[in-house]
Amino acid sequence: MMLELDDVHTYYGESHALQGVTLQLAEGETVCLLGRNGAGKSTTLKSIIGLTPPRRGRVVFEGDEIQRRPAHRIARMGIGLVPEDRRIFPGLSVRENLDVAQRKRRGETPKWSIERIFDNYPMLAELANQDGATLSGGQQQMLAVARSLMTEPRLLLLDEPNEGLAPVIVKQIGALIDDLAATTTILFTDQSVHFALKHAKRAYILEKGRIVHEAGAAELREDTATQDRFLSVA
Ligand code: ATP
Repeated sequence: MMLELDDVHTYYGESHALQGVTLQLAEGETVCLLGRNGAGKSTTLKSIIGLTPPRRGRVVFEGDEIQRRPAHRIARMGIGLVPEDRRIFPGLSVRENLDVAQRKRRGETPKWSIERIFDNYPMLAELANQDGATLSGGQQQMLAVARSLMTEPRLLLLDEPNEGLAPVIVKQIGALIDDLAATTTILFTDQSVHFALKHAKRAYILEKGRIVHEAGAAELREDTATQDRFLSVA
């Protein structure tokens, strides 16, 4: 397994947000974490990367227990998070937003460079000199994902990549996920089932901080009773 969460409990103060989350991802898989608002999707991703360190349980990445490590070290091990609010640096151009994320590592040939990002995603090349703050929501999301790629993640965590985006942009984000899925293991969150099942092979459903269902995409697509029970219909 590339990633394993074993009985992860995470708190915000006294508030018990994750109440024993257990899940696994094999290398190369694209998996979606589904659930309504407040179910604990973001907290699960933040617990993996160490932004909200679990109080109990284990997070194992490529065989190493990481639940007690600081976020910057976990990121350096090869996990990238694209947060829900994207965090594009205002006042920096698209190129500069990518440049600051670039990891200089001796003795390793990086998979991603600004040139490769621009070749693969010409839309970003066209915006290279534009201030990140002036981009549309969809452009910011593309940039946020591209910036995360500059850190050379083997596991990419995407928190609600479609949030607030127009349908035509959602299609582009879907194509981006499909493209990256060929080379990267991906765990993404979503509130509705439609996009998730189109782009993930497998899904977990969270409710009140617990995994309440796990299924292959095809199986969950047919299972409208489970969808109605745990997910928003969109
Ligand atoms: P959303 O779609 O709203 O992002 P989510 O499934 O990602 O939903 P989380 O953001 O992980 O849910 O929230 C899980 C629970 O933790 C919720 O009850 C939420 O109110 C609570 N929570 C989240 N962030 C904080 C915080 N910074 N402080 C206190 N409680 C929080």
